Amino acid sequence: MITTEPRIDIQPIGTSRIATTDLENLKFGRVFTDHIFTMDFVDGAWQRPVIRAYEDVAMSPATLVLHYAQTIFEGMKAYKNERGEVSLFRPQANIARMNRSAARMAMPAIPEDVFLDGLKELVKMDAAWVPDGKDAALYIRPFMYADDEYIGVKPSDGYRFAIFICPVRGYYQEPLRVKLELEYSRAFPGGTGAIKCGGNYAGGLYPSMLAQKQGFHQLLWTDAMEHKYIEESGTMNVFFIIDGVLTTPSLDGTILPGITRDSILQLARDKGMPTAERKVSVEEVLAAAKAGKLNAAFGAGTAATIAPIQAIGHAGGVIDLPEPGADSEVMKIGAMLDDIRRGRAEDKHGWMVRAS
Ligand SMILES: *Cc1c(COP(=O)(O)O)cnc(C)c1O
Repeated sequence: MITTEPRIDIQPIGTSRIATTDLENLKFGRVFTDHIFTMDFVDGAWQRPVIRAYEDVAMSPATLVLHYAQTIFEGMKAYKNERGEVSLFRPQANIARMNRSAARMAMPAIPEDVFLDGLKELVKMDAAWVPDGKDAALYIRPFMYADDEYIGVKPSDGYRFAIFICPVRGYYQEPLRVKLELEYSRAFPGGTGAIKCGGNYAGGLYPSMLAQKQGFHQLLWTDAMEHKYIEESGTMNVFFIIDGVLTTPSLDGTILPGITRDSILQLARDKGMPTAERKVSVEEVLAAAKAGKLNAAFGAGTAATIAPIQAIGHAGGVIDLPEPGADSEVMKIGAMLDDIRRGRAEDKHGWMVRAS
């Protein structure tokens, strides 16, 4: 239910923690900015949102989310351009996706205007936290969870929606070694693979851990029914350049519709590069690699943007892939995306939304 727009109650903290934070040696996801945005859903209505000091949450041991995982999240970034302005990348797409996640998890929709205002205001207040450096950004984490004190299995009556921010530096991403997963599944038809709900990630931890013990960074997930078609790489979408065609699995309900994925496809089309969204079989990828027609493979997501895959482990051994050079089509698309985010290239598609 969408109620009338409540104005944000803004309570800035007295002294920023920034002066006492080491922004040089940031670990991804472990450092948080000064403020948090919160908005509670009570008695069927969203209450007045607040921006206040980032702090711990106290909750009852019976809080519904702790037992049945009725929780969803988003991941997005804000970037600083050369004029020092901070802008969000495609926030409307994250907002729309979060509300699709909410619907699937029987949670209330978040009013889009309040969500966007909250994002902009929070980023503006904590804009000083964008670290210096080429790949530095603010990683933004909106999330919502069921906060009823009740252990019956039913949709919660109450929810908390919140947004916090982690300053991040671009980390050097080692080219990935991925293992084809032919036993465990991440998602299945009719399930929740297409949304960002907590349980999806918990279920992937054990098989990922097994792959890590075998020397792989992450899994190349395949479809749950036949383990015949490739779906995603770890928690990223996956792309293959097969015989010059930028190819990615089609969104058939078990794949998370990534905003990075969509942006890469758009930029490739803009450049006139052939693209294909379709089922991609394990057999086809292995055969293309054997025939020397698999030009590159990479994961795509907000955290890394483009993560080249250097090796694919499968039942018969390991396939090594050429590392894409800076002049490769993949890396050029990645650089183009970065140029748009940093205000160095024209934002033809209207992706950047100014916050400060
Ligand atoms: C978030 C996510 C992605 C990537 O989505 P982006 O919007 O590009 O960050 C891909 N796969 C899974 C499973 C994800 O959770």
